Amino acid sequence: MLPLTQTLKNKPTQILSQWIGWAFFRDLASGLSLTLSYMFSKTVTEQYPDKEKWVPFPRYRGHHFLNTNEEGDTNCVACELCAKICPCDCIDVVPFEDLKGNRRPKVFDIDLGRCLYCGLCEDACPANAIKLGQHYEYSCENSEELTVGRDVLMGMPRKSELGGAVFDASLSTIDGVHVKEVENGQGRDWWQDIRRN
Ligand code: SF4
Ligand code: SF4
Repeated sequence: MLPLTQTLKNKPTQILSQWIGWAFFRDLASGLSLTLSYMFSKTVTEQYPDKEKWVPFPRYRGHHFLNTNEEGDTNCVACELCAKICPCDCIDVVPFEDLKGNRRPKVFDIDLGRCLYCGLCEDACPANAIKLGQHYEYSCENSEELTVGRDVLMGMPRKSELGGAVFDASLSTIDGVHVKEVENGQGRDWWQDIRRN
């Protein structure tokens, strides 16, 4: 048996270790109860890409596109401001003068593998030409394919007013996932389905 003075000295340490044990047990119990509650709650698995697709909010910065005018030509005036401001040096612009005397990009390449999607190119553009859209499905098998040119950028999907929801979709092995038209333009608010304690 320990002498009384030794017992008194050890008391604060014992109390501390009891508190630590209680705190850890409380965390463990709360973690387990959360896990159990999810086991019996509604399933919220998104059926992507076969039946559903998450469309990000319009403010999302995804794959770039180049806006076009009524004649189908790019808005870009090849001023190179986007290339100058880009912190990753991933935009390459070579200007030329077209038959109407307009300055246009002969080459407009973006290396998406280096891009950090900061949006500075969009902010710097004086011609409302380059934009970052909501498209995010562009995996490829080699890094060279991540460099996209002017014509590809002109053909990329524009910004949608819809977003921030899950929409019905279908998968095509040729051209990817298509979001189906919905009458009211509203998707499913996936986040609302997630149980929060
Ligand atoms: S989003 Fe940023 S990093 Fe990407 S091309 Fe534009 S400026 Fe460069
Ligand atoms: S996209 Fe805009 S900033 Fe970039 S070269 Fe064209 S006009 Fe200039």
